[in-house]
Amino acid sequence: MASAVERRFSLAGEQAIVIGASRGIGLAIARELAQAGAATTMVARDKTTLEREAQTLRATGFEAQALALDVTDSAALEASRAMLESATALFVVAGTNIRKPVADFDDADFDALLTTNLRPVFRLARMVGPAMTVRGGGTIVTVGSVTSTIGLPFTALYGATKSALAGLTRSLAAEWGRAGIRVNCIAPGFIATDMTRAVWQRDGMTEWLASSQALPRLGTTDDVVGLAVFLASRSSSYITGQVIAVDGGFTTTAVWPLVPGPA
Ligand code: NAP
Repeated sequence: MASAVERRFSLAGEQAIVIGASRGIGLAIARELAQAGAATTMVARDKTTLEREAQTLRATGFEAQALALDVTDSAALEASRAMLESATALFVVAGTNIRKPVADFDDADFDALLTTNLRPVFRLARMVGPAMTVRGGGTIVTVGSVTSTIGLPFTALYGATKSALAGLTRSLAAEWGRAGIRVNCIAPGFIATDMTRAVWQRDGMTEWLASSQALPRLGTTDDVVGLAVFLASRSSSYITGQVIAVDGGFTTTAVWPLVPGPA
């Protein structure tokens, strides 16, 4: 029999949909939501990987299914409307990055980043929010970044989309709170995934992080998943409109070499 604490974090009875669940943070979140009891639909473009991951979850006793979908394709989203509207907990994790000096960006980069990082979140929210309203509520979680709150060089367009997601999260939360819908944003710091691996292999990067961040290490996808379960569970029932950093203190602390004592 589950303890009171286990029941507080249980997602039994929830229909979770994770967009961007074939790799990285989204895959880790989907696995954790399923293991917490949610019937979990894993969405991304890579059908083979999704089906393998969903099958692995089912083989270990959890409820999971795969849905191959490109979220930049509005017709494909529309074709899956009924399934997407069934979400009681929607996580929109899919995203991409282009790193360049500002002067080197062009309109194609602008379109690519807004089309992948921002527009699908808006479309999915407009699709799923009304269905949640009819059912009396639900949870939507977006995924921002440290660039939702601070500037980082060479990420002008990525930062624009992630800052916009923070604003969108707060506006949706304000508009839909009375419908029982909570909307929050997980803002990961530096997490080792396919998206960032090459960056952290560059000379000096790991050393820089170790010397400048309160928790002096690179994050893992495992560092993010507990917050995801929390935000989908009744444990977070009074939390909405928040951008919650999982970043080892990067956006809130500074580290310096001064040690108090005689000069
Ligand atoms: P990742 O390993 O590259 O995974 C990205 C996921 O998004 C994949 O599952 C990918 O699946 C999916 N995706 C991308 N474009 C898609 C599309 N058009 N349609 C459907 N699915 C799509 O990246 P990650 O590091 O886990 O990042 C996940 C999220 O966290 C992103 O929003 C990213 O901005 C954010 N984030 C990451 C970090 C970090 O340090 N890693 C830090 C802050 C924020 P397919 O390729 O199979 O479609």
